Amino acid sequence: MAKIIKCSKCGTYNKNKDYCDNCGALISYKKKREQRIEEEKTIRFEKAKKKPPNFIEKLRAHQNLAYRILGWILYSGFAVVSAIGAFIAWLVFAIAAG
Ligand SMILES: [Zn+2]
Repeated sequence: MAKIIKCSKCGTYNKNKDYCDNCGALISYKKKREQRIEEEKTIRFEKAKKKPPNFIEKLRAHQNLAYRILGWILYSGFAVVSAIGAFIAWLVFAIAAG
């Protein structure tokens, strides 16, 4: 089945192509959609992936062992929470995309 898509950049008509023959722009709707989904996925992951607050880093580097242990506990808790956050973001995305 021949599918003719007009390039939105230069106006060239392309037959059965994902990229424009003339300027190389992405013209496949399917590919465009896939690319957008990939981008959204990356953005969501980046948002879910938070860095631990500064005071936790400070505690972990503290000279007092008790503080370091406390910092380690907080850090572990934070890592677990952010992992769950990333998983939820992925899950929401998987449901939305499905
Ligand atoms: Zn083009």
